[in-house]
Amino acid sequence: MKFFFKPSSVVFTTSKEDLLEFENQHPQLNDMIRGLLRSYEGIFDFPVNIYETHLAKFIQKPVALIKEQLQSLHQLKIINYNSQKENPQLTLLQNRMYNDSYKFDTVAYFKRKQVYEQRINAINKYVIESKICRSKLIARYFNDVEIKDCGICDNCITVNEKPISLIEFENLQKELFSIIADQKKPASEILRNCSSNKKYKLNKVINYLITEGIIKIAKDGNLVKL
Ligand SMILES: [Zn+2]
Repeated sequence: MKFFFKPSSVVFTTSKEDLLEFENQHPQLNDMIRGLLRSYEGIFDFPVNIYETHLAKFIQKPVALIKEQLQSLHQLKIINYNSQKENPQLTLLQNRMYNDSYKFDTVAYFKRKQVYEQRINAINKYVIESKICRSKLIARYFNDVEIKDCGICDNCITVNEKPISLIEFENLQKELFSIIADQKKPASEILRNCSSNKKYKLNKVINYLITEGIIKIAKDGNLVKL
């Protein structure tokens, strides 16, 4: 915000041709017009700050008359004359701001900060956790406590890591072949209803059989025997 005394300003608002004609018709204002044009460069095209006292000295006429003639020229639409204001002018350098504009909602701020910290902690826990099932971690974050171990995430696999005996492998393979011979199913569906221990082992068997080219995942996502 700035306080200052704004000087008067003048800009010509007529064309040069019209001005010439005007001068012919109003000879009493000629000194004034010439005085303005000679004293202030650019005044024909742009508003220029003028000082009535300087003009009065230059034209050698009383200040009161200078002001009066400037008013006349303004009224006759030859110039645009903004006379100096009696009081200091106030210029707002930005859009007006009120006290309320600066209110800071600390309650909302701390609430947001707290929620953000909780989210970061949850992500952090998810990353460093090595025992709890990943699906369970995610479900718990969304307040779902019902979910069971998925049996196939890295944590489930680490926790359940047990060797599969040959007999177990053969039994699981036999069971799998009979399921896929019977009906078309994707691996996820076959694994869905198994216990987490069986899920882990059957998943291993499926992956092994796929790697060995004994079964494959068909285009429709179902497991098929080759
Ligand atoms: Zn899991």
